[in-house]
Amino acid sequence: MYRFFEKISRFMYGRYGFDALGKFLLLIYLLVAVSNIFVQGTAKIVLYSVQMALLVVFVLRVLSRNINARQRENNFYLRTIGRAEPKIKLFFRRVKDIGKKRYRTCPNCKSVARLPIRRGHHTVRCPNCRQEYKVYIMF
Ligand SMILES: [Zn+2]
Repeated sequence: MYRFFEKISRFMYGRYGFDALGKFLLLIYLLVAVSNIFVQGTAKIVLYSVQMALLVVFVLRVLSRNINARQRENNFYLRTIGRAEPKIKLFFRRVKDIGKKRYRTCPNCKSVARLPIRRGHHTVRCPNCRQEYKVYIMF
């Protein structure tokens, strides 16, 4: 077993490996793979092609020896799509909290507060800018 890992680490020496863009490509790959379960016909073939293309790009990036080019791609990804990552995480957190918490945006600093469900009018102190603002939780 030790020799196996030694061989892998020798094989990966000087190669690029895994990064944030790789993680994103894998996530998209999984989303396409899952959505492929629910379609039929031509759409299935198209989705399968997209799936394979994503996998090929991912593997080629991991095994690439051109580290500068891969870092440039990763930086571009972090500057563009990577900036949306906190918003995507907040979206999934809100979906998970449906029926348990309410989310309200601070009018002053636009940060989002996660509040317990207590019906009626309340005053909330923003944890970010310390300013108070009024919220109304209907249900
Ligand atoms: Zn605030």
